Amino acid sequence: MNRECIACHKQAQYTIRALQLRTLHVRGMTGEEKYQVPDDKVLEYGVCRECAQKRLKEHRTGKSGRKRTIIFAIIALAGVLLLFGAAQAGALTGQDQLVRVLRMVGLAAVLCGGAGFISTAKEAGAERKRLSGMSGEAALEECAWQVFLDSAPKEMGEEKWSLTYIPVNEKTLATLPGDLMILYDIQPGVAKEVMKKIGHPKA
Ligand SMILES: [Zn+2]
Repeated sequence: MNRECIACHKQAQYTIRALQLRTLHVRGMTGEEKYQVPDDKVLEYGVCRECAQKRLKEHRTGKSGRKRTIIFAIIALAGVLLLFGAAQAGALTGQDQLVRVLRMVGLAAVLCGGAGFISTAKEAGAERKRLSGMSGEAALEECAWQVFLDSAPKEMGEEKWSLTYIPVNEKTLATLPGDLMILYDIQPGVAKEVMKKIGHPKA
């Protein structure tokens, strides 16, 4: 195989087969409408072993979710500071309105930051557990898919169609069409076409 890695452009060892699905949300008279168009055919992309290994290492060392957990922690901390600041501002200025606004914003930041922190940490832990339950090669393939998703374009065209990718592999073909529709947010109207294009046995 002579394909380059989508992330670092070195020689790729993993082949990613995926069907691209374009989605456009249009605000119309009856509310928001969603249009979905699958790509003409399944495309192949490459990911190198080094990038997949790097990703797996990030999961194992807990580095993968660290950036997001830090951001949420900072938001929560800013909220705490705002709550303290609100009390101070109230004592200094006596402006009840201002204090109320500061308190609300502070409380929202604490709640949102705290909830984000917990869910990100939980997610990272669950992902680590899932990958460690797989064989080494299966975990690397899973990580190669994640590297692909990170590097693949997410938007397209002037209308900014959002792009999602459906992996075309044994696991997808063994999953029931109904479950795939939920998993990849495929509309009923295009589901049949999608199943046919990925060669699903129930198409
Ligand atoms: Zn690479």
